[in-house]
Amino acid sequence: MIEVHEALEIILSKIHFKGIEKVPIDQALGRVLCEDIIARRPNPPLDNSAMDGYALIASDIKNATPENPVELIVSDEIAAGAIGTVEVKPGHASRIMTGAPIPPGADAVLMQEDTDKKGNSILVKDMAEAGENIRLAGEDVAVDETVILKGCLIEPAHIGMMAVVGRSQVYVSQRPTVAIISTGDEIKDLDEIPTGSCIYNSNGYMLAAQIRSAGGIPVYLGIAPDVEEDLLEKFETAIKCDIVVSSGGVSVGDYDLVKASLKKLGHEMAFWKVAMKPGKPLAFGEIGGKPIFGLPGNPVSSFVSFEQFARPSIKKILGYSNLAPKIVQARLTKTITKKTGRLHFLSCCLGSENGTTTATPNAEQGSGILKSMVSANGLMVFPKDSSEMKEGDQVSVQVLYN
Ligand code: AMP
Ligand code: MG
Repeated sequence: MIEVHEALEIILSKIHFKGIEKVPIDQALGRVLCEDIIARRPNPPLDNSAMDGYALIASDIKNATPENPVELIVSDEIAAGAIGTVEVKPGHASRIMTGAPIPPGADAVLMQEDTDKKGNSILVKDMAEAGENIRLAGEDVAVDETVILKGCLIEPAHIGMMAVVGRSQVYVSQRPTVAIISTGDEIKDLDEIPTGSCIYNSNGYMLAAQIRSAGGIPVYLGIAPDVEEDLLEKFETAIKCDIVVSSGGVSVGDYDLVKASLKKLGHEMAFWKVAMKPGKPLAFGEIGGKPIFGLPGNPVSSFVSFEQFARPSIKKILGYSNLAPKIVQARLTKTITKKTGRLHFLSCCLGSENGTTTATPNAEQGSGILKSMVSANGLMVFPKDSSEMKEGDQVSVQVLYN
């Protein structure tokens, strides 16, 4: 049996970046950026007004108050998108809209609310500092500035910035296709009627969602009964994808045929047992250079094994700079015990008490109790050689789906 970190190291050593492709920015959300985004033009391009108001000379109005307003002649009007060419001279102002460029001569913009109109003039009721309400050219983005770094996960603000610098398409990583095979005579699909001890294929659908949330393209191949020929056929189809995940059939039961079938296809098995709970059985290896994850059948085990091994693998294929899940330190809210020898992952709820992050392990932790995962937002890590963690202890929690 190997340790979780050793298993992950072996797996990641066999996983490689897939490649890049160009996409329109409206399809880039959630993808991994594969180029630095560099501005070729400043933003804003010119000094411009942050307010609807009047461009003027600050020293003209330094004594202006509501009781003693200063009168200025309005000699021009500048809309956003226009260029004001009339120079602002002492005793004058130009009407200016938000985003319009500052005309020559002016050094401040006074907001409209601090003025009263009087024919072709305004009465200024407040002073302004030089530079007030002026947004400087390049204050958002300077020429040749790198505004987004390669390797980041593209979020809405990134897409806004791509548009700021005029990029309609960007290079992102190619998403891997991930085949999903569910094994078991007792497993039925959702359009079938389960009789007797049969159950629905919850793993297949859950894995598809995990793959999608990790950035992969799930390829659902349905259910293979516990018959070697059927398994062989499914795996032969599956290895056309970039990665394969199967669930079930990797334990020591009489019908656990996944390992034997994979062997027939030339599967080079790296290992098949990891010192963790849930999720001890894990048949990981390759067929023709394609990584295969034989995940355990119990739903919670399948879920946790995917999160520990398949999600970081998909992240590596996608070119993420950080493959590890997001970890937070939290205060344990109740004492828990276990046997030593295996690293445990407990579904838990992260919360907050008096400004401290707390972690409360869910009451039921069985490998078949998927309900415990439904209410969870974290996986608490209970170290291999520890047998007790006390209320108040600091614990590490992996934030789910990160
Ligand atoms: P196995 O590893 O094949 O012995 O499966 C372990 C347990 O997980 C059994 O109780 C199976 O019924 C259950 N199981 C296996 N595959 C699935 C699946 N796709 N969806 C839900 N439960 C499953
Ligand atoms: Mg089975």
